[in-house]
Amino acid sequence: MIRGNRSRDPREHTVTPEKQFPVIRSSHPGITGSPVSFGNQKSMNVNISNKPVDPSKLKIRQSLIKILTGSDLSRRRLPFMSISSPVPGPVVWLTACTHGDEVGGLVVIQEIFKLLQRRLVKGVVNAFPLMNPIGFETISRNITFSREDLNRSFPGNAEGSLGERIAYQIFSKIIQTAPTFLLDLHNDWKRSVPYVLLDRKSEAISGTAYDFSRRICQKTGFYVVEDTQEIRSSLTHNLIQQGIPAVTFELGESYVVNEKIIEYGVNSILRVLSDCQMVDLTFPPENYPLHDRYQSDQVLRYSDKPFCTRSGILRFLAKPGQIVNEGQPLAKIYNAFGKMQETLTAVNRGIVLGSSDSAVAFPGMSPMVFGIF
Ligand SMILES: [Zn+2]
Repeated sequence: MIRGNRSRDPREHTVTPEKQFPVIRSSHPGITGSPVSFGNQKSMNVNISNKPVDPSKLKIRQSLIKILTGSDLSRRRLPFMSISSPVPGPVVWLTACTHGDEVGGLVVIQEIFKLLQRRLVKGVVNAFPLMNPIGFETISRNITFSREDLNRSFPGNAEGSLGERIAYQIFSKIIQTAPTFLLDLHNDWKRSVPYVLLDRKSEAISGTAYDFSRRICQKTGFYVVEDTQEIRSSLTHNLIQQGIPAVTFELGESYVVNEKIIEYGVNSILRVLSDCQMVDLTFPPENYPLHDRYQSDQVLRYSDKPFCTRSGILRFLAKPGQIVNEGQPLAKIYNAFGKMQETLTAVNRGIVLGSSDSAVAFPGMSPMVFGIF
């Protein structure tokens, strides 16, 4: 199954975001005010501090936003979380589980909020930890009732389809808070390495918000990959278009909670918050181990090529995290009698980011994705 921002949906939205969502510019330091963070420093200075914040000083809120009443009159709602310091600072959003089978980000948000209860020194962190509860409960990427991809439904429409209505509620709530930036947490194939995905620079998204998004990526400690297609209906694209920096995290495998990847995800977000001086860490967070031939300031290009040209059973010759050179064999396809049908080879030199959840090959299918050097 195709993950994250990978599912391409050519649907165009008729809603003009600028008209529907007037942006309230943040008065907090950050991208919409005086830039105080994400400078050019090569390494982050993670402080060692033994001064936990007094939790009674923080305002912690949990609430539910109604999205739908079912035919049995049950109410479907979106959980919303917020923690704010009395000291003004950036307004950061964390979002997860827009694809219902991508559950890791939900747990990352829960763990971040536990830590922030004693660590948030300034600013606000808001979260939608479970944006697609219907997909989550039915183990589906899409909103099962309407078969829509929520991350292809932004900025949404209050009078549109079910997906667009949910997207509208999410997008309106986020925009109203004048966010400094947003991190949208996804999970990729079962066999994949964590990476951050930057939307493709285009006429619609460029300038300060794009540049800031890129700098956030480079603070995460993960591989940084720029998309090669413009996805106009994703959450991050629409935010950047509104001048709000936004980054997609692809945190490894879907369906289950991989505890080690959760730890890397939590550490990565703490690094980003620490760089904005929103948390004062007691330990240097452990980074995901990157390939030694990847430099931390590199931005790779996303690629889902080569495509299969034959049907059959896929047997992989390269693993996620491995660097492959142009022409290197990646996988072989066999027919039901065991006769080899095709050898897929690398189109460019790059890092294997993930390989398909299934051994089934068919023509036009992308069995692996890459970050190209
Ligand atoms: Zn996703």
